[in-house]
Amino acid sequence: MINIDKIRADFPILSEKVYGKDLVYFDNGATTHKPQVVIDAVSDFYAKYNSNIHRGSYYLSNISTQMYENARQKVQKFINAKSEKEVIFTKGTTEGLNLIASSFGSLLHKGDEIIISTMEHHANIVPWQMLRDRVGIDLKIIPLVDDFQLDLEAFANLITEKTKLVSVVHVSNTLGVVNPIEKIIEIAHYKGVPVLIDAAQSIQHKKIDVQELDCEFLVFSGHKIYAETGIGVLYGKQEWLEKLPPYQGGGDMIKDVSFEKTEFADLPFKFEAGTTNFVGAHSIAVAIDYLENIGLDKIEEYERKLYDYAYEKLSKIEDIELYATSKSNRISAISFNVKGVHHFDIGSMLDKFGIAVRTGTHCTQPLVNSIGIQGTVRASFSFYNTFKEIDYFIEILPRVINMFK
Ligand SMILES: *Cc1c(COP(=O)(O)O)cnc(C)c1O
Repeated sequence: MINIDKIRADFPILSEKVYGKDLVYFDNGATTHKPQVVIDAVSDFYAKYNSNIHRGSYYLSNISTQMYENARQKVQKFINAKSEKEVIFTKGTTEGLNLIASSFGSLLHKGDEIIISTMEHHANIVPWQMLRDRVGIDLKIIPLVDDFQLDLEAFANLITEKTKLVSVVHVSNTLGVVNPIEKIIEIAHYKGVPVLIDAAQSIQHKKIDVQELDCEFLVFSGHKIYAETGIGVLYGKQEWLEKLPPYQGGGDMIKDVSFEKTEFADLPFKFEAGTTNFVGAHSIAVAIDYLENIGLDKIEEYERKLYDYAYEKLSKIEDIELYATSKSNRISAISFNVKGVHHFDIGSMLDKFGIAVRTGTHCTQPLVNSIGIQGTVRASFSFYNTFKEIDYFIEILPRVINMFK
């Protein structure tokens, strides 16, 4: 079991008050808080080591370069990539997806097809639509069957000889549904199509091994995995990253530049133009150490118990509508509505009791609209949340509902 008191003491923001009440933070799907070791690592970096990476011939620059490349190795081991050349630092999930849409997209022609799913975050929809408008590709959408499961049969039938890439979300940030990406990858590979996984909502909750998954690309954000914002990771199989043209041009991604011609740098630097968020990269390494110290298996087990506890209690409250009922494949986020009350009203009133939840479409408007609703209230959990907090939430929620009745 995890030591919850010790863990909570590691996160200073958890002892802050809102409106004089204890903060109950159930918006971990939007961003996670930072443990003191991450906060200290960032401030120590600026206090002791700050200097630009890959540039200097001097002491401090060598140290910051080393810390940046150590962070890359830490990520490589964490996701079990074959080589550190396969780990590209980005600004976050959104940039990772835009990078692939742009670089991979530049190899595509009119009539080529990309497959995404109904469950995607806007970050895995809009870049493909922009590519569609630029190049004339077709965007195909995996539909849902009962209980918010991706329709795998329909998916297999969507794949044609024109399909160039499948890009799907691992865990839905809105419904907490865990998609069967192993099967999706198997089906796509059977037809020779590469797969990109949006792991923004899974990497912080369960162990991910990219070699075992065998996906071609995978993206996630630092700020959702207890590290800084403005930093993220794109994993790509080396043979694929070698094939793709660079995303942005600038310093650090070149070998040789003249006005006539530029030779690009080798991986991973080819995709890291300009000064990256090297301090953020270090913060990811420290956050990974922190998570591994607790143990990802323990985190997953504890969060699952919290989730099931909350789901069970919520389902007993009158007038609550829950989505995705299959217990075996949900983690992290629960979406709900209260009959006859607007989701935003519930969220704003919970806030007055110190409870932070998110309301709206959660950047998944097509998914939410496909349910025939305008939005939901979403509670999303972390290992620093407690059963006591859920009890408090479950005690307050009916009182909030009654205010609108
Ligand atoms: C948060 C999120 C994104 C976008 O991540 P950013 O950190 O905002 O770039 C994409 N997909 C999913 C599933 C997310 O939860």
